[in-house]
Amino acid sequence: MSTSTHTSTTTGSSTTSAKTGGQDKLAALHEQISDGVAALVESEGWRAMLDTAAKFHSYRGNLMLIALQAPQATRVAGFRSWQSVGRQVRKGERGIAILAPCTYRPKAADQAEPAAPTGPEPTTSCSGGATPDAGGKQVRGFRAVHVFDVAQTEGDPLPEVAPSLLTGQAPAGLWGDLASQVTGYGYALERGDCAGANGYTDPTRRVVRVRDDIDDAHAVKVLAHELGHLECGHVADLPTYPTYLTCRGRCEVEAESVAYVVAAAHGLDASGYSFAYVAGWAGGDLTGVRQSAETVTKAARTILGRCSANTATGSDDLADTA
Ligand SMILES: [Zn+2]
Repeated sequence: MSTSTHTSTTTGSSTTSAKTGGQDKLAALHEQISDGVAALVESEGWRAMLDTAAKFHSYRGNLMLIALQAPQATRVAGFRSWQSVGRQVRKGERGIAILAPCTYRPKAADQAEPAAPTGPEPTTSCSGGATPDAGGKQVRGFRAVHVFDVAQTEGDPLPEVAPSLLTGQAPAGLWGDLASQVTGYGYALERGDCAGANGYTDPTRRVVRVRDDIDDAHAVKVLAHELGHLECGHVADLPTYPTYLTCRGRCEVEAESVAYVVAAAHGLDASGYSFAYVAGWAGGDLTGVRQSAETVTKAARTILGRCSANTATGSDDLADTA
């Protein structure tokens, strides 16, 4: 795309015509997200992923023990749990020792209690005093059990509906247009390692950072996502960062939807990433995705209105009405 059609870029008149013509288009683009997420959460793959997730235990109390023994662990489960999802622990792998509560039900309450243990297998016996828990069972103490990280196993791939990174080039001029809006918010823009994320917005340091080892197409999508957070007021309007974290699901759905619409308006199809990302943060619930339509289209319209490289929503609509 060349930049030869810069008529009157960010001044009032051109954005107004782009907006009126672009309104339905943006709403239609947002509709694509709802439809895409709906198709995804109704798919076999999504169901399989949930079934698998249900087999993994939460080892919340043991995060420190896991971190000490296997800092790179991503997903842990007991020997038999791995077998139940079609994977085997490799020969010679050492388990990660964690503590599991050792419970029993006192005789009186001992009716039709199903034999518990889908969990990791005990490798030592219990010790310690008895403490009642809410379910009538008593915690007698803790036992060491061993779990294994996914990297220590082999077999069937875990069913996952994972967002895949966009590849290739970014639409011409879009990075610069989005970058100037980020700095316009008083945020410095950085590239570099993002500690496992593709990018982030840090309101305390007033920094937006985007990973530097991804293709330009994905990088510009990430930038649009972070700008989406700023434009939707996720960080500025909320009194504290922790508050942002508690409503993070909604914020992520909105920011990614903005990124999808902004990218699509420039001819970049982010569906391979955005649909799974939005579905994940929405917890597979479409209501929140649909409810965000107004916020998303408003933010996307504002961002696109400030883009000089605004090819899709701007120029053809202008041509239609001329
Ligand atoms: Zn985000």
